[in-house]
Amino acid sequence: MRPARALIDLNALRQNYRLARELSNGARALAVVKADAYGHGAVRCAQALMNEADGFAVACIEEALELREAGIKAPILLLEGFFEASELELIARHNLWCVIHSPWQIEALERTALSGLIRVWLKLDSGMHRVGFFPEDYAAAYKRIKATGKVDEVVKMTHFARADELDCSATIGQLKTFQRATAGLEGATSLRNSPAVLGWPEVPSDWVRPGIMLYGATPFETEQPVADQLQPVMTLESRIISVRELPPGEPVGYGARFVTRQPSRIGVVAMGYADGYPRHAPDGAPVMIDGHASRLVGRVSMDMLTVDLTDLPQAGVGSQVELWGRQVSASQLAGLCGSIPYQLFCNLKRVPRQYMGE
Ligand SMILES: *Cc1c(COP(=O)(O)O)cnc(C)c1O
Repeated sequence: MRPARALIDLNALRQNYRLARELSNGARALAVVKADAYGHGAVRCAQALMNEADGFAVACIEEALELREAGIKAPILLLEGFFEASELELIARHNLWCVIHSPWQIEALERTALSGLIRVWLKLDSGMHRVGFFPEDYAAAYKRIKATGKVDEVVKMTHFARADELDCSATIGQLKTFQRATAGLEGATSLRNSPAVLGWPEVPSDWVRPGIMLYGATPFETEQPVADQLQPVMTLESRIISVRELPPGEPVGYGARFVTRQPSRIGVVAMGYADGYPRHAPDGAPVMIDGHASRLVGRVSMDMLTVDLTDLPQAGVGSQVELWGRQVSASQLAGLCGSIPYQLFCNLKRVPRQYMGE
C-alpha cells in the first residue's frame, strides 16, 4: 500500500476546542467544521466533539445534512444561510441555524411558510465588505426579521477582516461599528473567529466561532504566545521509496530547479501535489525524516517529491517522512509557499485519513 497518509489526532482537536472555550470567558463556542472540517473529516471531527461542543458551523445545508445523518444533534449554523428559498423548509425541519446576510434572504423568509421557528444569525458588514447588512440598514433588517414571527431569536454577528494582524486597529474599528449598529437590539452577539479568540481577548462575544485553531494551526504569521498552546491535529506523512547518490552538478526533478552542489543522497518520498502537498514549496522547505530535520529539493511532482538525505546517512528506503504536523509547522510551510494553513489542509486529497484518540 502507498505509505502516504494523514493522521488525525482527535484528542488534540478536543484540547484545542477546550482552549478556545477557556480563552472566551464563558462564551459558547461553535466548532467550525465547514469544508469537511478544513480537510480533517467533518463527520469524525464533529463526532469527537459531540459531547462537549455547544454547536457546529458549516458553509451550506449539504454540509449540515451530512452531520445530521451521522447523528449530530447539536445546533448547526449555516454560515452563509440558504442559497435558495427552497432550503428554508429543510432548515426548519432539521433544526438548523441560519445566517441571513442579504435582503433577498429576508424576502424569502417572509414568503415561505415554515413548520417551526428558526434561529437567525443576522450578519453585519462592519468592514469586511463581503456579505452582511450595512450598519445603517442593520436595525431595520433586524426588525423586519422579528416581524415575520418565524424566528425564535436573532443573534447579532459580524466577521473580522484583519484579526490575524495583531498590531492593526481595524479589528477595534469593526468592533465599534458593530456596537453602534446593534445598540438597543436584544440578543446574543458573535464576533470572534480563531485569530480573535487567540489574539483579541478584549472583544466581547457571547458566541465564538473558532475554525483553524481547532485544527492546531496558528492563524498568525508571527509568534504569538497563546497560539503556541495549540496542538497540531493533522500529521501528513509518508515514507522514502527510493534513494540515489548523485555527484555534484546533477539536476533533480522537473525543470532542474535543484542542482546538486556536492556529492548528494537524494530521497524520493511518496507524496505529491495530487495529495495536496503544495507544488509551490521552495527548495529548502522543511521536512522531518525519522525525527531529523531535512529539506525539500527540486520541484514537487504529482505523486512524488525529493528530499536531501546527504546529512542523514542513517535514512533510507522506508524512513518515515513528516510533511507537516507536530514537527513541521503547517503554518510555517504555508508561509514559505505564499499560502495559509487553511488552504494546505483544505487541499488534502487522495491520502487516506487515519484517526486516533477516538
Ligand atoms: C470560516 C469562518 C470562521 C472560522 O474562521 P477561522 O479563522 O478558521 O477561525 C468563523 N466565522 C465565519 C463567518 C467563517 O466563515
